[in-house]
Amino acid sequence: MYKCMAVNAGSSSLKYKLFEMPEEQVICSGIVDRIGHDDGIFKIKFNGKSHESVLPITDHAQGVQLVLDAIKEYGIVKDLNEISCVGHRIVQGGKYFSKSALFDKDTEAKITKLIPLDPLHAPAHLVGFHAFKKALPNAISIAVFDTAFHQTMKPEDYLYPIPYEMSEEYDCRRYGAHGTSHNYLAAKAIKDYLGGKPNTKIISCHIGSGASLCAVYDGKCVATSMGLTPLGGVMMGTRSGDLDPSVVDYLCDRSGKNVDEIYEILNKKSGLLGVSGVSNDTRDIEAAIKKGDKRAIMAGDLFVRRIADFVGQYYVRLGGADMIVFSAGIGENSSFFRARILAAIAPALGITYDLAKNEELNHKEGIISKPDSKILVAIIPTDEEVMIARDCYKALKGTL
Ligand code: ADP
Repeated sequence: MYKCMAVNAGSSSLKYKLFEMPEEQVICSGIVDRIGHDDGIFKIKFNGKSHESVLPITDHAQGVQLVLDAIKEYGIVKDLNEISCVGHRIVQGGKYFSKSALFDKDTEAKITKLIPLDPLHAPAHLVGFHAFKKALPNAISIAVFDTAFHQTMKPEDYLYPIPYEMSEEYDCRRYGAHGTSHNYLAAKAIKDYLGGKPNTKIISCHIGSGASLCAVYDGKCVATSMGLTPLGGVMMGTRSGDLDPSVVDYLCDRSGKNVDEIYEILNKKSGLLGVSGVSNDTRDIEAAIKKGDKRAIMAGDLFVRRIADFVGQYYVRLGGADMIVFSAGIGENSSFFRARILAAIAPALGITYDLAKNEELNHKEGIISKPDSKILVAIIPTDEEVMIARDCYKALKGTL
């Protein structure tokens, strides 16, 4: 038995989940939020109990110390040396990583080299890694990449039609994201719903405030909607998703804003929030739609259209589909948006679905298509952390 810590370090937050492996039992979980603020937040959940405190949290190192002190104080572990491995979620693995890797000097150097591709997250991941390394010098560390699952894409699926020399020289191509989630969903779909059969065709829809779709053939990614960065693909909570590249220059020209300001808008003020002017949260959008708010209705329609278009694209890419999976914040919890997406794709794809089941299964796993549907449709709650813990276990066994 090993205790493995799955860590997701963002620029001002650090999420963590401690597992007993290989049982995959969650021992505790929580978040350190608002790092760098006087009103930082520390949360921990264990044994059905939860504790929260608000205090100044200067940096990630202090955040990590808070987590480890609490784990000791609450008797969750007797000795911190019981934690054998720390697995770090890394957003961008570029072309270097097609699977998880030991977080050694070489991995660190590659992640550092990839900072230009992910200036938002990569520095925070490295800070999180060093903070844990210092606090738990005896634990091994691994890096688990959001992009790794997508490394099986063919050039026709990942290249942009720009001069090939530029793709090569600047590593400018589609990398995708949410790979750990898509990998989990596809593996679970194949094992639990498709009888472990080979050559299965799955369209995996990870729809949260960040959203991406993935076409999976025989358990491997063949195409995914996010691009060079997580800004591409479908419309999201605050991100635009795909645009004509001329939009950036045109908006700079017309608004007098510079490129950075426009990208800030495309990342943080677009998507559901930007179109509706109401919120980035589907709960608020749903409420506004029900009140007849015109811009919320438009935002909802656009959101559904963009997702439906990608489903259609991936249906063609895969030459059909055995299963469509809904997951993440919206995919798991919003029966309203699931029903709308299904309404948009069902006639073309021969899907029949059960609206009562769709309601009933909110927040739960299960099938929402009818027995006569040509494609099985299911909700599967994602679990990126358990994937990280599984790779930690493999690293400890020397089979990573
Ligand atoms: P991320 O991991 O990308 O931050 P999540 O997968 O947690 O995002 O998804 C968060 C989003 O899910 C929220 O912004 C909201 O739109 C949606 N959401 C969460 N809970 C519910 C719910 N109970 N009903 C409807 N939508 C929900």
